[in-house]
Amino acid sequence: MAWDFSTEPEFQAQLDWVAEFCENEVEPLDLVFPGAAWSRNPKAKALADPLKQQVKDRGLWALFLDKDLGGPGFGQLKLALLNEILGRYRSAPVIFGTAAPDTGNMEMLAAYGTSEQKERWLTPLLNQEIFSAYSMTEPQGGSDPSLFKTHATRDGDEWVISGEKWFTSAGARADIIFVMCTNGMFVVPRDAPGVEIMGYPPLHNHIRYNNVRVPSDHLLGPEDGAKVLAQRRLGGGRIHHAMRTVAQVKLAFDMMCERALSRESHGKVIAEHQMVQEAIADSYAEITMLRLLVLWTAWTIDNSSTREARTQIAACKYTMAKVLREVSYRALHIMGSLGTTNLTPLHAMYAGAPTMAMADGVDEVHKVTVARNVLKGYEPHPGLWPTEYIPAKRDEARKKYASLITADPELAAWADAAVRHTERG
Ligand SMILES: Cc1cc2nc3c(=O)[nH]c(=O)nc-3n(C[C@H](O)[C@H](O)[C@H](O)COP(=O)(O)OP(=O)(O)OC[C@H]3O[C@@H](n4cnc5c(N)ncnc54)[C@H](O)[C@@H]3O)c2cc1C
Repeated sequence: MAWDFSTEPEFQAQLDWVAEFCENEVEPLDLVFPGAAWSRNPKAKALADPLKQQVKDRGLWALFLDKDLGGPGFGQLKLALLNEILGRYRSAPVIFGTAAPDTGNMEMLAAYGTSEQKERWLTPLLNQEIFSAYSMTEPQGGSDPSLFKTHATRDGDEWVISGEKWFTSAGARADIIFVMCTNGMFVVPRDAPGVEIMGYPPLHNHIRYNNVRVPSDHLLGPEDGAKVLAQRRLGGGRIHHAMRTVAQVKLAFDMMCERALSRESHGKVIAEHQMVQEAIADSYAEITMLRLLVLWTAWTIDNSSTREARTQIAACKYTMAKVLREVSYRALHIMGSLGTTNLTPLHAMYAGAPTMAMADGVDEVHKVTVARNVLKGYEPHPGLWPTEYIPAKRDEARKKYASLITADPELAAWADAAVRHTERG
């Protein structure tokens, strides 16, 4: 029997180490030196780099990549279990070499890069010697790629890129930017002449590409292949976000339960009020459903492919946003006024829920994907009545017993009475 919800003892030992390491090393760094993990400041690096080295020594660096692509080759299921821990801590994904947007960009490079491109960009990205960003969304539209206009024109040995991108996360601090053009995916050095980073938004940048010239070997994958590369990139990114969201909602749930047992109102701890119990019970069930959906999707990717799992990935995408919104809201509410401040993680978590419903594709688009794919397994009913119309099914089933009913009027009468009884009910 292959359905098994247990974790191998050797891997559980790794998970235990990760949990302890994150609590004792990563969280204190986050609290006292926020942002040190991705800073270029030598003093901040001196604090974060030894932690990264410990992760490498443990064989846990760049968890998302297969062995042949330079990672430990854990597969998505083990990665999901690890991300259930890492997602609780802001800088843990960077300290484990598995932070967006670099992960998705590395996946594209690993899958489509030439050996020269891998040497030039993948190895330094893996080692965090450089950082990257991903420029796809444009000001006039993000959900519909047919609205994108950024284009590359061939000029001898070079490509000339013109267009405007919006919400390129970490674009201003990236060394290289993966720019999705209508005719291909290009790697653009951020300091190339013509790359103009606008002043706002500060973290998710508005960027103009003003006739930016890159050599012909900066085209990643085939010409006109940008959509395929983007799907590869975003599919992996979505499931990784979902894995980390499981960690976030578990954190919210832990806070909700602790608070429910700690606070009194109207003569008893609030955990004894039934509506608080309902919030806890609903959250428990929703988190468990999300977690199992994510683990099942990860298992499907490991056992077939990301493509095979695309319906499940899309379902994870909008389910995680919904569960994050519901559970973080309930936890914030049960925390009372403290929950509305930024003195606990709950306010930021709740404010982050709309982002989860938007980044890497809005919920509506993923719901359409799920509905379309699921409907491929169905057909319209052939006649007037639905297939499950009971009188028609019963007439069909009576044919099976026709000889028995004809031969035994007493049994036939009993059957008629029994049917009338069920119809009354
Ligand atoms: C925190 C964050 C980080 C991001 N990082 C990046 C990044 O690094 N690189 C990058 O390129 N982009 C990034 N994005 C942009 C993201 O991919 C887009 O926001 C997303 O694709 C939606 O595009 P849009 O914002 O233009 O919204 P629109 O496409 O304008 O959609 C707005 C609304 O219209 C409705 N809608 C749209 N299409 C449909 C439809 N087919 N059916 C029904 N309703 C629909 C939905 O209600 C939707 O929310 C990021 C976004 C966020 C919030």
